[in-house]
Amino acid sequence: MPLKNTLIQKIEALTEGNYEYLFALHRHYHANPELTLFEFNTAARQAEEYRKAGCDQVALLAGTGVVALIKNGPGPTILYRNDHDALPIQEENDIPYCSTVPNVGHLCGHSMVPAISVGVARNLVALKEHWSGTVVLVSQLGEESGDGARKMLNDGLYERFPRPDLALAWHCSPTLPGGTVGIRKGPTMACAAHLDILVRGIGGHGGFPSETKDPVVLAASIVMRLQTIVSREVNPLEPAVVTVGSFVTNSQKGTVIPSEVLLKLTVRCFSHPIYLQILEAIERICRGEAIAAGLPEALFPKVMPFSFFTESVYNDPELTTKVEAVFVDYLGQNSVREEPAYTFAEDFAHYADGGRIPLSFLWLGSVDPAKFDANGKPKEVLPSLHSPRFLTHPPTTIRTGVNAMTVALVGLMGTGFAE
Ligand SMILES: [Zn+2]
Ligand SMILES: [Zn+2]
Repeated sequence: MPLKNTLIQKIEALTEGNYEYLFALHRHYHANPELTLFEFNTAARQAEEYRKAGCDQVALLAGTGVVALIKNGPGPTILYRNDHDALPIQEENDIPYCSTVPNVGHLCGHSMVPAISVGVARNLVALKEHWSGTVVLVSQLGEESGDGARKMLNDGLYERFPRPDLALAWHCSPTLPGGTVGIRKGPTMACAAHLDILVRGIGGHGGFPSETKDPVVLAASIVMRLQTIVSREVNPLEPAVVTVGSFVTNSQKGTVIPSEVLLKLTVRCFSHPIYLQILEAIERICRGEAIAAGLPEALFPKVMPFSFFTESVYNDPELTTKVEAVFVDYLGQNSVREEPAYTFAEDFAHYADGGRIPLSFLWLGSVDPAKFDANGKPKEVLPSLHSPRFLTHPPTTIRTGVNAMTVALVGLMGTGFAE
């Protein structure tokens, strides 16, 4: 149900009053990025900002994660998450608040979403008469390594703080103009597993290969054969990716056949059964190619445990439909875009606690609207997330991010509906 117009005006006026403050906070985070799990200053500042916003309880969790509560009587408990870690990438944007840290940059919008969260916190505290329930604000560490959410959950997020009935998150969109939002129901982000394969052989002289078992040739066969998993084995209606991103031997010379090759892979798909199917195929192909190479069984390739695993983000259709309705009412149908599923990975999935808590991962348009033509098509190639030139457009991103999330939360917990 739509919010009353007077309430919308009140929300927008509050956001406008905080705009310069939030923009300055975003600039501060952007100029001072901190890498995954080292977000010490960012977490301390974010905690201080939540306290200043009037949150009832603010705590650090899992080292550099922040949790803040706004308690406001009976009603639903909603978790609203942002993330605040930076990437090991040199920023190439020509802006006054460009990263001051060499080879570290906020190039995934994680300097923007914490500032927006502070704006939402300030609004919710000021609007307590219009909603009822509990908001759990989570400023997450370590999203880029895929295990920050798990670290916060393991440190008692759902035991030491109220367990949410549902969870929402903004992520900056590199393709949608500021002032718009992106919605997706069902599978939204892929699950991602990183795994290593240690391919072993019998090394020797490069000029006399018949005395060796060459792991380079074996690993090359494995890499080629792995490409048939998605193209020949997985249901063509199921999106999946198997990428070998690194192929390293322990020989530095062309004259030496090495004894080992280390392959590093990432696997992406949208369901656990497909993931298990891919994993089984990887193990079978490694074994099969080793037999074909005549390798003794003791030297068969080792598929190593994951260095990283995130589940796929599934946007609860019922919750997302509710949020969509609130957004359409507030922003208009044209500014609420349907987004495809992506094979990026996001550890927001872990807040679902194995599917028990409905989630909705929401895209926040972040691109300067001047970069689109009258038909809404980009006039230039837009930098993707993790590009050294990814850049948000603060005037539209902050305002829409704060207003639309406030509207959504008050809409889900509100007492301010129109008649
Ligand atoms: Zn991100
Ligand atoms: Zn990222």
